[in-house]
Amino acid sequence: MSDGAMSDTATNDGAMNDAVINDILIVGAGPVGLTLAAVLARHGVRARMVDKLPAPSPYCRAIGITPRTLEVMDDLGLAGALVEAGIWLDGLRTYIHGSPARETENDFSDLPYAQLGVPQYATERLLAGHLADLGIPIERGVELTGLKPDGEGVEASFADGSSARFAYVVGCDGAHSAARRALGIAFEGEAWPMEFMLGDVHIDWDLPPGRGLPRGRALFALRPIPEAPPDLFVAIPLPERGRYRVSMVAPERLGAPGQGTGHGIQIDRPGATLDDLQEVADRLLPEPPTLSDLRWSSIFRISMRLAARYGSGRVFIAGDACHIHPPTGGQGMNTGIQDAYNLGWKLAAVARGEAGPALLASYEAERRPVAEAVIARTVEQSLNFGRPRPPEDRLADTQLLVNYRGGPLSVGGAVGPVEPGDRLPEVQGLRRHGLGFPLRLADAVRGPDIVLLVAVRGGEVLALEALAARLRVTVRAPLRVVAVAPGDAVLEAPPGVSLFYDAAGMFAAAFGPAPAALIVRPDKYVGWAGAAGDAEGMLDYLTGVLGLVAE
Ligand SMILES: Cc1cc2nc3c(=O)[nH]c(=O)nc-3n(C[C@H](O)[C@H](O)[C@H](O)COP(=O)(O)OP(=O)(O)OC[C@H]3O[C@@H](n4cnc5c(N)ncnc54)[C@H](O)[C@@H]3O)c2cc1C
Repeated sequence: MSDGAMSDTATNDGAMNDAVINDILIVGAGPVGLTLAAVLARHGVRARMVDKLPAPSPYCRAIGITPRTLEVMDDLGLAGALVEAGIWLDGLRTYIHGSPARETENDFSDLPYAQLGVPQYATERLLAGHLADLGIPIERGVELTGLKPDGEGVEASFADGSSARFAYVVGCDGAHSAARRALGIAFEGEAWPMEFMLGDVHIDWDLPPGRGLPRGRALFALRPIPEAPPDLFVAIPLPERGRYRVSMVAPERLGAPGQGTGHGIQIDRPGATLDDLQEVADRLLPEPPTLSDLRWSSIFRISMRLAARYGSGRVFIAGDACHIHPPTGGQGMNTGIQDAYNLGWKLAAVARGEAGPALLASYEAERRPVAEAVIARTVEQSLNFGRPRPPEDRLADTQLLVNYRGGPLSVGGAVGPVEPGDRLPEVQGLRRHGLGFPLRLADAVRGPDIVLLVAVRGGEVLALEALAARLRVTVRAPLRVVAVAPGDAVLEAPPGVSLFYDAAGMFAAAFGPAPAALIVRPDKYVGWAGAAGDAEGMLDYLTGVLGLVAE
């Protein structure tokens, strides 16, 4: 865990001093709205946050936190707290027709993070606590009812009859988004006919092949039924010993199919009883476990839908407001958090007058295709109930492969295997003068700044001082220069350049041997790649492609 290892590059606190107050409205304090507020805050923009619920939702929908989301949380300084709150999801045991069919171990040892399990309410609590530390309150019991955008701003109206003007509004208000409806954005797709039930229970397992279920292991029991949805029982471990979030198809007596409203948890209907849940476990497992201590339960529905647009003018939508799909593979919240991480730095740069508004168009161009792919994959996976997942699905589900190659902000040639639009690869074993411990590349680039990352071999590091000065006087946005030299080089870092040594050779392995430069965006994607001496190319990218405003 590297939180705080480079406190000189984490600039959250200082940035809030010159915050733009209440100029941006975030509608919805779910995981996506909370992440967006945190991202904006570290760029010095304090958003106003409202949520129609008087108190946070007690239900645990998302549990799975992907390795990529943990990288995002690491950048925000929150990965350590999430790991402490969670349980590593180490594998899956599958039973088919009551017999043990497969034991799948999740081996993520080649990745910076494995797959973590944290109940959604705990993730939300952690993010809300972080915002409270930054002095950003969540205004609860405030429901958005309408939006009237014009060229200068957006008039937002609320259920209590009040209204207020904002420079920008972001609807992170879930599947039934009022912001999306106010903009008249189509949300095309379809709903599954059957309903599901969820419960948070304690389980005493007594199962073959061993008698118990190892901590961190999920369980999936399936009875395929020809020409009908399968009978299934899924148990995902929660951090407390013996506790699981179970889900299964709901019997028709709990509500006729088609009766419920839309997607997700049906908060206005009674949930399942412990007997309802136990009945499915008894039917599908060889030695039925005892379910007890039901903390909450609910009925939920699944739809697959993608918003036709991710915003219009000064209003954007993010998270479930843009995309909904089956929970298979645990992708929904994670995809939404990454929407927020993508939109946040762009919106902050525009709100602070550091970039022109054209930068915002890249949000939809980059993120909508990602959601399209997630919907296709999760639908396919859920129709393949019980079949082993292909290895490429496992890696896709980590979200580490998501890239913006060919996108409007991706310019230049490949640097080794890394192309513009790729996520900055994991590199470990960097050393820095004066520090007695190794660092990751993520430590070197952590924080809200744009980073010019240059591979140097020797004396040319001195030229970076003048380059850094030139870039900094050309754009108003904060920009840092990071140089990485071979492990055996002995160089002097000029002022304004952070110098690291590739002691383990992982940097050269990740980017190839040729000296090159990359412009790394604040969301840690490679924007531009080219020659280390191509100052004109860098400036063209910063001012022409990102549209950064000159000082
Ligand atoms: C059974 C189940 C399991 C899941 N498992 C996973 C998983 O393992 N991993 C994963 O990544 N995802 C999972 N998901 C999906 C995940 O729960 C959602 O993708 C996630 O909650 C979306 O976050 P959000 O912030 O976009 O929306 P939401 O969490 O729906 O939050 C929206 C917020 O907006 C507020 N709001 C709505 N309308 C208004 C309004 N008009 N005015 C003001 N406030 C408003 C709501 O009160 C709410 O607080 C699962 C979902 C289900 C149902």
